[in-house]
Amino acid sequence: MMVPIFTLKLNHKINPRMVTVGRFDGVHPCLTAATQAGKVFIHNPHARGQRPAAHRLSQSTQDSDISLLNINQAVTCLTAGPLGPTSAGDTLLVGSQTNLLAYDVHDNADIFYREVTDGANAIVLGNLGDIPSSLAIIGGNCALQGFDYEGNDHFWTVTGDNVRSLVLCDFTGDGKNELLVGSEDFDIRVFKEDALVSEMTENETVTSLCHMHGSRFGYALANGTVGLYDRTARYWRIKSKNHAMSIHAFDLNADGVVELITGWSNGKVGSHRRETTLIPSGRGSVIPFLFLFQIDARSDRTGEVIFKDNFSSSVAGVVEGDYRLDGEKQLICTSIEGEVRGYLPASKDLKGNLMDSSVEQDLVRELSQRRQNLLLELRNYEENTKGVSETNSSVGVIPANTQLQTALSVKPATEAQKAHVELSISTPNETIIRAVLIFAEGIFEGESHVVHPSAQNLAGCVRVPIVPPKDVPVDLHIQALVGGRSSTQFHVFEITRQLPRFSMYDLCSDPSAPPPAGRVTFSINDRPQRVVMWLNQNFLLPEGLNSPDVSFNSLRGGGLLSLSMSSSGQISLRSDDVDLAGDLVQSLASFLAIDDLSAEADFPAYFEELRTTLTEVDEFHSVHQKLTAAMADHSNYIRNMLVQAEDARLMGDMTTMKKRYRELYDLNRDLINEYKIRSNNHNALLARLKAVNQAIQRAGRLRVGKPKNQVISACRDAIKSNNVNALFRIMRAGTASS
Ligand code: CA
Ligand code: CA
Repeated sequence: MMVPIFTLKLNHKINPRMVTVGRFDGVHPCLTAATQAGKVFIHNPHARGQRPAAHRLSQSTQDSDISLLNINQAVTCLTAGPLGPTSAGDTLLVGSQTNLLAYDVHDNADIFYREVTDGANAIVLGNLGDIPSSLAIIGGNCALQGFDYEGNDHFWTVTGDNVRSLVLCDFTGDGKNELLVGSEDFDIRVFKEDALVSEMTENETVTSLCHMHGSRFGYALANGTVGLYDRTARYWRIKSKNHAMSIHAFDLNADGVVELITGWSNGKVGSHRRETTLIPSGRGSVIPFLFLFQIDARSDRTGEVIFKDNFSSSVAGVVEGDYRLDGEKQLICTSIEGEVRGYLPASKDLKGNLMDSSVEQDLVRELSQRRQNLLLELRNYEENTKGVSETNSSVGVIPANTQLQTALSVKPATEAQKAHVELSISTPNETIIRAVLIFAEGIFEGESHVVHPSAQNLAGCVRVPIVPPKDVPVDLHIQALVGGRSSTQFHVFEITRQLPRFSMYDLCSDPSAPPPAGRVTFSINDRPQRVVMWLNQNFLLPEGLNSPDVSFNSLRGGGLLSLSMSSSGQISLRSDDVDLAGDLVQSLASFLAIDDLSAEADFPAYFEELRTTLTEVDEFHSVHQKLTAAMADHSNYIRNMLVQAEDARLMGDMTTMKKRYRELYDLNRDLINEYKIRSNNHNALLARLKAVNQAIQRAGRLRVGKPKNQVISACRDAIKSNNVNALFRIMRAGTASS
C-alpha cells in the first residue's frame, strides 16, 4: 500500500481548481493557490525567514512559510511557468473577471497588468503553433486571448460559449502545440492557432482538460464524468455522482506511462460511498464500481483504478513538483481546507500494485457477487434446455429467423404528443419484446432509458419517442429482451443505430410557406447528387429523395429551413436561425471535404438585434466611466469629511462632529448604492460583450478555413476601431472591402 511521503496543513483555504506549483527563483518549487478574499498564497518552505518587501506581497500572520499576494478582486484562475525569454524563474499569472496579472514573485514586481474585457475563466501557459514566444492564454466569455511576457496579445479568437478549461498539446502530431478548449456548450474544440481544426461534443460543461501523452488527453465534465480521448476518439470514460475538481497526468506506479489522477469533491456529508460506472467506449454495458475515496489514479488504457486515497474534505487541486528537492517529482494533492499531501511514484518492488488491502477486499466481494449471478444464470440455462428436451415446450425458445429491426421517423407535434423522433423496435415473427434498454448520451436523464410494456400490452413492436436537445449525431445502443408470450427467460438482442445529426427537422411539402428572411449562399464544385447524399446521411428523409432542393420544418420551433442548389453549383440556405445555418455549412463542407469556403450571408433579424447590442455596449461603457469618476469624487469627499469630523472631535465641537458623521453616513450609503449600480452595469456590459463575441463566432461559422479566419479577425478589427458599419459589411460579404 502506498502512503503520502509528506503531509502539510496550511492555515489557508484553497479555491477549487486554482492551484499551481511555481519555481519563482528558478530552483525552489512553491505551492501557489488562490485563497479567500482575493488573495493568492505562495508556500515557500525552502526560503524560511526571507521577509518580502512591501508592494503586493506580504507575510501571512498565521504561517511563516507563506506569503500572500493581494489581488483585491475575486481570483478566477491562476498558473505559473516560464513566460519571459530571459527570466530564470517562473512567472505567476493570476486572472480575474476583468484583469490578468503577470507577476514576478521573486522580485516582487508586476510584469504586466492587463484589462481583459472578456474575463479569464481558465488559463494555460506555453507555446501555441508557430507563434515564437511563450504565451499566457486565457479563456473567457466566448473568447480566447494569448499574451506574451510584455503583455502584447499575439492571439485572439472567439469560440462557441464561455470557456471553462484549456490545455496545450500536440493534438495533430506535427510537433507543434494546438490549444484544446472546453466550454459551457459541452464542446471540446481544438485550435491550430486561430483555426478551429476539430470539435468533439460532450454532454455537459467541460470543466477540466489535461494532457496525457502524445495526442491523448483527459477531460472532466460538470456531471461527474471523467475520461480520456485519443485525438477525436474517446478511449474510455467513467461517470460518478461526485464532482471531478481537478485532473492531472502522473506516472504513479512508475511503469513509464502516466495515469489520469482525479481529485473529487465529496458529494454528501458523511457519505463517501458512491457508485461509479465504467462505460467502455461505444458499448452499452455497465460495470458497477464502488467509489470510496477522493483522489484516484486510473490506467490510461482501461480507466480502471490503480490507486485511491481518502481526504477529509473536497480536493481542490492536483499538481506535481519536486517538493523535497531530491530530484524526484511528487504528485501533490491539496484539499479546500488547506491539507497538502505528496506522493512519490511507487518503488519497483510494489510491481504496480498500489491498492491497500481493504480495497482488494471490496474487489473480492464484488467479484464473488458477480460469480454468484453468473452461476444463477447458468442454472437457468441448464433448466431451460432440460425443459425444452423433455416437454418440447417453447419456453424461452425463439425461432431461428428472429432478429431485431429498428426504424427512425420524424413525428411532428400533435395534440397528444410533443414533436419527436420515433424509434420503433420490432421482431419479424410472433415473438414479443418484453423490455427495451436504450443507452444514449445526452438524450435521456442518466443516459439510459428502459421501456417495460405491461403484460397486456406485450407485442412484437415497441415505439420510443426521442427528443435530441441539440443537433449532434447520437449513437443509440439498444438492448431488447425477446421471447414468447409466456416465456420466463428471454434472449437479449443488441443493436446500435445512429440518430442523424439533423433528425429534428421534418420534410415540408407546403410550397406556399413563406421562405425565411435569413440566408447564406456559397458555391461548391460538386454534383447535386453528392449534396443529396449528405442530406440522406444527416436528415431523416423518406426514401427516393433525389433533389437537393428541399424544405424542412424545425420540430424545435425554429421555423422553416430551405435548401436550394442552382445548376452552376450555388447553394442557398435559408433559415432565420444563424446557428443552424452555421452547423449546416460546417457539416456540408466537412462531408464534401471542402477546406476553404467563402460565403455571403444576411440574417436581418439577428443583425438588427446585434446592432442594438452594440449600442448598449456603448451606453454601458459610458455609464461605467461616469460611475467610476463619481465614485472617485465621493471617496475624496468622504476622506475630507472624516478629517473634518475628527478635527471637530479634537476641538470638542460635538455639534459639528455629529453633523459631519451624519453626512458621512449618508455618503457611505450613497457609495454602496453606487457600487451596486456599477456592479449591475458591469454584469450587463459583460453579457453584451459575450453576445458580440458570439456574433463574431457565428459569422465565422458561416465560412470554412481561411475565409472563416479572415472574417473573425476582420470583425475584431472593426470592433476595436468601433466601426459598426464595417462589422456588418464583413459579416454579410465576408470581407471588409465592399
Ligand atoms: Ca500539432
Ligand atoms: Ca503508470
